Amino acid sequence: MLKPKIADRQHWEAVSDEELLGKNLTTDNPLGLDCLVTEIPDGPEEPHVEFSYNLEDEVRCIHCNHLHKHGFVLRKGGYRYIVGWICGEKIYGEKFDKYAADFKAAQARQDAMRRVQSIQGRLPILLHGQRRLIGEIRSIHLKICADQHPA
Ligand SMILES: [Zn+2]
Repeated sequence: MLKPKIADRQHWEAVSDEELLGKNLTTDNPLGLDCLVTEIPDGPEEPHVEFSYNLEDEVRCIHCNHLHKHGFVLRKGGYRYIVGWICGEKIYGEKFDKYAADFKAAQARQDAMRRVQSIQGRLPILLHGQRRLIGEIRSIHLKICADQHPA
């Protein structure tokens, strides 16, 4: 029997804007996450980077057992595991570049959407200020006209 062809689509590419906006892409407590395992889980699922972390305290990498302050939490199926930033590339090679690029693209997309939201939130204030300014310019203009052309 033929296996269904799995699309070569990265995880975050397939996540909608709306869903991405509601996600946290960083964690300051990777050890506090649910479903954290200390060995790479079995299974056919393709892992993806779920969070990045950048900590004061170090956490242990699943691969080298060293302590890292910077790294990623990878998700594979229902499990999460911690990968230090150096090990990812060493172990997964080009694949890890893909995982990291997919994640970075999601971070950039989320950042852009949050900026747009923030600008949209400020628009009414800006428009109000603009209307007031136009009103002031009009009254100054009228005053100048009145001074130049006295009745
Ligand atoms: Zn490591």
